[in-house]
Amino acid sequence: MRKINEECGVFGIIDDSLQPCVHIAATALLALQHRGQEGAGIAYFADPDERDSIACRKNVGLVSEIFDREYLETAPHTKVACGHVRYSTTGGNTVENTQPIVTHHSRLTFAVCHNGNITNADELRSYMVNERGAVFYTTNDTEIISKIIIDRIIKTGSLEQSVIDLIKTLKGAFSLVIMTKDKLIAARDPNGFRPLSIGKLGTSTVVASETCAFDSIGATYVRDVEPGEVCVFPLGGKSKSFHIEKGKRSLCVFELIYFARPDSFIDGMSVYKARLEMGRALARQCPTEADIVCGVPESGFDAAYGYSMQSGLPYGMAFVRNRYVGRSFILPTQKGRTRAVGLKLNPLRASIEGKRVILVDDSIVRGTTCAKIIRSLRDAGAKEVHMRISSPPFIAPCYFGTDIDSKENLIANKYSVDEICRQIGADSLVYLDINELTAIKRGRDIEYCTGCFTNNSPIDVSRARKKDKFD
Ligand code: SF4
Repeated sequence: MRKINEECGVFGIIDDSLQPCVHIAATALLALQHRGQEGAGIAYFADPDERDSIACRKNVGLVSEIFDREYLETAPHTKVACGHVRYSTTGGNTVENTQPIVTHHSRLTFAVCHNGNITNADELRSYMVNERGAVFYTTNDTEIISKIIIDRIIKTGSLEQSVIDLIKTLKGAFSLVIMTKDKLIAARDPNGFRPLSIGKLGTSTVVASETCAFDSIGATYVRDVEPGEVCVFPLGGKSKSFHIEKGKRSLCVFELIYFARPDSFIDGMSVYKARLEMGRALARQCPTEADIVCGVPESGFDAAYGYSMQSGLPYGMAFVRNRYVGRSFILPTQKGRTRAVGLKLNPLRASIEGKRVILVDDSIVRGTTCAKIIRSLRDAGAKEVHMRISSPPFIAPCYFGTDIDSKENLIANKYSVDEICRQIGADSLVYLDINELTAIKRGRDIEYCTGCFTNNSPIDVSRARKKDKFD
């Protein structure tokens, strides 16, 4: 099914003694694989005393394909490593554009991993080329970050100050992990668009895009990196934290709706519980007579369960998923993607035949796959299909690290809810109200970016790059 895709996931680890950091990083990246399936990489210092001993293995493909058993068995124990999984929304899907981005410079050798989207990337790239004489080897934003760090290091002589200057220079969404031979740095943009958490694994400090990565390696969650915070973890020293001026708090609400794994906690909130609450709110918003509540696999499961709890209607399965069909969003044509839905999801006739079905999903992007799913339920004998969406209509582009940016692709941008309902062939269609969505914070000191639902971006995007990947 055509979904909105997250850009990336990042991970880092540092310890005063030698540890199987590469192995641990690969395990963590597997847990973050949902954030990007186009490429992955891990960088580490093979000799902790040698700054030029940095090694980096990265490629296009899945974590399990790039880091096979043979590689992991022979990888050296190290004191520091960082890793990345990539979904490309900027730059082509080539090995050069995969991360970490490693920089060898006479002043510093380091690696950078980035999740998000820099909205002033074009401006900064031109400045670095024309004013600072930088030469770029990739088309991704992360190399801009590396070039600015080097530029600032030459000026200030301090890595910490360079990263602080960098955070003040970049605009947009960025959660960063930066590694040198004796330091790990984690930094988050002043608005906190993308998540970034700190954990402990024995004596090691770990950082990751999502806390599910900590669970996968047996680490415990310590805290989130705050918006506008630069955390420095040095070998053999105390960690330091620098706070840049905060912007308007703007956690991407789509992390809670769909991107993040339900077993993660973001800024103190359980993603699973947030989704249950969205389902509950949907049920309260528009009580509907029905026989069964089902989720579209797997993005609609948690909200459907919440809907069922709130409404008292039984929760059931509407589809069986074929786990061995590739992800349909990588198919190049709309026709191919539409056909793949039938391959992936088969209606469970025994569960829905003769029933009035409440079908819950997280969003409708183009509507074509949704229509096909509803038709397949009817063909399998469903008496009624009431579509419930655990987010408001998706009407605007995102400039902060997701892959949908053309309004023409968004069905809710062209048609009313009633018209969409008719087009997808549902008996009724209800989207979650924006106020109900933002109310899930329940007293927490947090605000969300809701730009793709309101067309109101929390920061100026007038100079942001327009992308055309899915136009
Ligand atoms: S515009 Fe939408 S997808 Fe993009 S950061 Fe904001 S809430 Fe997330």
